[in-house]
Amino acid sequence: MQKELLLSIPAINDFLETEYSQILIKKFSRTKFLEVLRKELNKIRCSILSDNKEMKIEKADLEINIILDSVARSLDIEAKKGLIKVINASGVIIHTNLGRSLLAKSAIKKAVTAAGEYSTLEFNLDTGERGYRYKKIKEILKDLTGSESAVVVNNNAAAVMLVLKSIFEGKELIIARGEMVEIGASFRIHEVMENSGVILKEVGATNKVYLKDYLSVISENTGAIMKVHSSNYRIKGFTHFVKTEKIVEAAHRNGLPVIKDLGSGILYDLSNYGLSPEPTVKEDLEAGIDILTFSGDKLLGGPQAGIIVGKEKYISQIESHPLMRALRIDKITLAALEETLRLYYDFDQAVKQIPTLNLITEKIDKVKNRAQKLYSLLKRPVNTAIEIIESKAKVGGGAYPLDDIDSFALSIGFSKKNINDFAYKLRNLETPVIARIEKNKLIFDLKTVKKDQIITLANAINSILSEVS
Ligand SMILES: *Cc1c(COP(=O)(O)O)cnc(C)c1O
Repeated sequence: MQKELLLSIPAINDFLETEYSQILIKKFSRTKFLEVLRKELNKIRCSILSDNKEMKIEKADLEINIILDSVARSLDIEAKKGLIKVINASGVIIHTNLGRSLLAKSAIKKAVTAAGEYSTLEFNLDTGERGYRYKKIKEILKDLTGSESAVVVNNNAAAVMLVLKSIFEGKELIIARGEMVEIGASFRIHEVMENSGVILKEVGATNKVYLKDYLSVISENTGAIMKVHSSNYRIKGFTHFVKTEKIVEAAHRNGLPVIKDLGSGILYDLSNYGLSPEPTVKEDLEAGIDILTFSGDKLLGGPQAGIIVGKEKYISQIESHPLMRALRIDKITLAALEETLRLYYDFDQAVKQIPTLNLITEKIDKVKNRAQKLYSLLKRPVNTAIEIIESKAKVGGGAYPLDDIDSFALSIGFSKKNINDFAYKLRNLETPVIARIEKNKLIFDLKTVKKDQIITLANAINSILSEVS
């Protein structure tokens, strides 16, 4: 029987002779068509050989048109892949792999306009001549942070590199050992420093550093003291670190500036909302930091960007460096960032309208409602344990590493074998769903699932549940 089925599988040439195949080849190319067809035939062969009852192949499944339908579906799905939207049920609000912050509606509108219309990107309406790309955003950043000047580049990694290269190339930078951060494998502070042509002077031990450690290595060739916010970790226990004010005072006394990579960078303190205190941009500037860099798409809740604020004399030096042109931001980003920052003039508005802030500060009842809505829409097959559970969401993006955010989630229990299969199927839907796996449970954290995604999510789960059970 197996043998008979195997022999009934049509040959590649039989497929190629059909008009259906020719249509697919025209649309997707011969190479892609053959690649997907071979994969499909292989799958059929494996199913026949495996004798698996669930995937049983009948003679009728081996008709050319039926197989080509399946090939067409795969080709369609493959062609649409690339950057597509997903449902984030991971509970990580600023998820770097899923695109970090979502923009406020008004920022999206500005970005769309900038994308589709001519604009004042580098045009001065008063003089009718060439204008400066960063004029307005500089004003807004000065207003919001109290800095003397500001400029923006592609991302915070670029901002750090540009600061180091444009001002301190060939100079020694003093940094505490406990601040030698790695943010993801591609950004390690010491590598960034070396690549920017500055000489690293590490001081202190991992858990302890004193002012005298900094002072003891200052030489003629010292360019600055550098501080890096330990975004994604905390050193706790037997520790000693030096207050920013003290470092600044000592550095300035020695004629040195202090620069800081703040990482996530918040404009307002969120400790009123139950989060641990994090230094705000303003506080760091008030403490005397001379140059400060932070990301646009982490806690700020805007588009990908690296924001540099600080003393005019340094910012103007940065702006005139040739790398500035290589790292400049595009008009779509600029429009979205200007609008995101504008919302911060009224912090209540910012919290309401910027999704990242909104999710962090949202009342728990709302999350619970979303969980209940999802639960009510799900089929409940026998042998599958589905329940609403309390969950801990995360801010992510290397911010508030020790803080959990109360949340609710939907949990579905599985056998070990089925869970990865289920998660795989969820990830390969037209709108993929990204959930967490904890032990043998699939956890859908509702913190990061929007209200208008619940029905889609329920349909997705239901469709796969009925396939699996
Ligand atoms: C995230 C982060 C960076 C990198 O910022 P990008 O905007 O992703 O380039 C650099 N330094 C610190 C401390 C960070 O947290």
